[in-house]
Amino acid sequence: MRGNPPLIRKINRQSILRVIEKEFPLSRTELSRRIGLSLPSVSRIVDSLLEEKLLREVGKGDSSGGRRPLLLEINADHRYVFGAEISRATSLVLCDLSGTIQDRTTVVPDISRGPLSLASQLSLEVERMREKASLPREMIAGVGVGTPGYLFKSAEHITQSPFFGWHSIDAEEEFSPLFPYPVFIENVARASTLAEMIFGWGREYKTFFYVYLDWGTGGGMVYKGEMVRGRNRASGEFGHMVIERDGIPCYCGNRGCLEQYTSTSALSREVKKRLQKRDGNALPEIDFDWVMQAYEAGNPMVRDVLVEAGMMLGKGIANVVNVLNPEAVILGGEISRRCPIYCEEAQSVAHEHIFSLGASDTPILRSKGEVDTVALGAARQAITSYFETLV
Ligand SMILES: [Zn+2]
Repeated sequence: MRGNPPLIRKINRQSILRVIEKEFPLSRTELSRRIGLSLPSVSRIVDSLLEEKLLREVGKGDSSGGRRPLLLEINADHRYVFGAEISRATSLVLCDLSGTIQDRTTVVPDISRGPLSLASQLSLEVERMREKASLPREMIAGVGVGTPGYLFKSAEHITQSPFFGWHSIDAEEEFSPLFPYPVFIENVARASTLAEMIFGWGREYKTFFYVYLDWGTGGGMVYKGEMVRGRNRASGEFGHMVIERDGIPCYCGNRGCLEQYTSTSALSREVKKRLQKRDGNALPEIDFDWVMQAYEAGNPMVRDVLVEAGMMLGKGIANVVNVLNPEAVILGGEISRRCPIYCEEAQSVAHEHIFSLGASDTPILRSKGEVDTVALGAARQAITSYFETLV
């Protein structure tokens, strides 16, 4: 690229940071090969990044004769970020710049009070954790928040949304004034896709579709190691794939959306419905914990519900594989962590329904992610955005 040296410099610095962020430690020679920039240019940029303490040297690599090269990685304690997952138990993590968790906590939100009350609860918690870690404010590069979704079209006549008001707010605009740091909002499904890409199966598969199975159903597409966001950051809305004509109404205004059959909220609702049919109205409060306990205690009706949901999901996955032909499909979220029978059903139904013989053995794997995956993905978003702001 010609003509705009500051811009070129910025782009080159960012490519170096992005490559090292994902693949580390690397030598200058490897960096130069990965990003296709001459060794002297790479060295010049690396020297300035070392001077600014964004990178650090870590030991020496193997050499093919001659001096062993110095290896580079992100200087993890140069800045810190927070990452949060808005959920029925909202997790909050403090990470260094390498994305390693330094501290974590869980905030239990009062769901009925809506997004802003949770945001202020979070901001208090962020300050408490920052003080506990003895970090001055200027060491915090940002706060990433994985939200259940925002700015999606919504049907007003449907009040039973699992999102307690998130559909009607611009989370970035509402959250930012509450924090003395830059705030980055990402949808939960994409935040976990990001975490899977960096910390999980993404280290083995460069092109994969991530399915988020939690109180909502979502997705994220990674193509050649990059998140696909789409023209309006609206890609990956797997949960709103219409799977049944005239099916269950969805808060998005459609009917028969996959989420209405496959999320934890859908499972709890279905179990409740069947119990009601059988036992009348005296029902316990049924949430996903209840469902899993009943399943583990051998309740056959609950088992049926889980298997049927897995079947619906399997068809959805087959559709995605038919359209995108990814290297793998990864299942994440609370259901993937806790419910093998559901996932196994989805895997076998998907394999039956994939059109192409060649793609019919597409690996469908459960995520390597743990409880804090989304929060970690949101923190990762804050780190990437921090690198992007550097000139
Ligand atoms: Zn929908």
